[in-house]
Amino acid sequence: MLTDIEKKPIAGALEERYYNVLNENSLLKRRLAETEYEVNRMKQTAQLVGHVEEVLDKKAIIRTGTGLVIANEPPDNELKIGDRVTLHNNLLSIIDILPSAKDPLVNAMELIEKPELSYQEIGGLKEQIQDVREVVELPLTKPDLFKKVGITPPKGVLFIGPPGTGKTLLAKAVANESNACFIHVIASELVNKFIGEGARLVKEMFQLAKEKSPSIIFIDEVDAIAARRLDVGTGADREVQRTLIQFLAELDGFDARGEVVIVAATNRPDILDDALLRPGRIDRLIEFPIPTFKDREAIFKVHCRGINLGKVSFKKLAKETDGASGADIQAIVTEAGLFAIREDKEKVEETHFMQAIEKILTEEEEQPVMFG
Ligand code: ATP
Repeated sequence: MLTDIEKKPIAGALEERYYNVLNENSLLKRRLAETEYEVNRMKQTAQLVGHVEEVLDKKAIIRTGTGLVIANEPPDNELKIGDRVTLHNNLLSIIDILPSAKDPLVNAMELIEKPELSYQEIGGLKEQIQDVREVVELPLTKPDLFKKVGITPPKGVLFIGPPGTGKTLLAKAVANESNACFIHVIASELVNKFIGEGARLVKEMFQLAKEKSPSIIFIDEVDAIAARRLDVGTGADREVQRTLIQFLAELDGFDARGEVVIVAATNRPDILDDALLRPGRIDRLIEFPIPTFKDREAIFKVHCRGINLGKVSFKKLAKETDGASGADIQAIVTEAGLFAIREDKEKVEETHFMQAIEKILTEEEEQPVMFG
């Protein structure tokens, strides 16, 4: 049995240890939070993509677009040869193991086997529909006609126009009307997602289009990979350059009678590299202007199909929406419906449309102008 005098120093030592453990615990918690913050920060900075060539002790040899590198293994993952990984651009540590490369969604591509959209759902744009039927639909649906006559159909067409003027809409509609597969690609995603992947993605995109032919590749914001460049100073510029070179090579290499048509779209035709628009490449241009009075009337009619309308004059709506795009008109129709619901009405009246026009078009005026 210990006396009280003997117990005192033991209690003191235990107390000290207890406080030391507490201190250590809070220190470790802080370190954990800092590490988690650092890992998140690393995930947000530019990433490089590569494939594991060899697994070493706590390290791995990775083949990237620019050559071989040795990188640190991630703490909780078992790497295998052939894994596709992202690397931190500066520190060369492996950040993530990516899903397998063949998934088109992961690769900035959306594949729609047959978009459910017909020319009937487009208001106005009569000339544009006519042109698209000739340069996109006919080569896809009647390739033999071109063979018989002995002419080569166009490989690609460029849609030019401000946002919301129906470029994507018409590209989807022509895919539907031609029974073609629709491959939707946002050009900026090809180069911004993972450095070193752009050229491979372009290759895969053409491969997919051939496998799924007849097909349409719709490349939105094509200026992101095809803008004229004065110098290629930074790594990101070089990445864009490599992606464009691959894109032009694929374009030159594929047979125009192979039932694949490229539809590129841009709001910035003024900055495009001439190489893209050379004869035999994307050499047809179709302009999508801000809709005219007649077109606005037609677009209102399209979007009001199926809506329970009161007494509404489409001419009046078109008159009040000078300068509005097709996307604005779609937003106005939805907003007018919401105004009716707020008033507990079953029919959408002209006053609801007027309130919606006021709301949507003034909101628009307050936004910075992007097109120029
Ligand atoms: P962005 O340059 O921003 O990609 P875009 O020209 O491709 O724009 P779309 O995506 O085709 O624009 O249009 C957006 C929406 O606006 C469409 O889903 C459609 O509802 C409506 N719209 C645009 N133009 C028309 C039109 N001519 N007829 C009917 N609806 C239209």
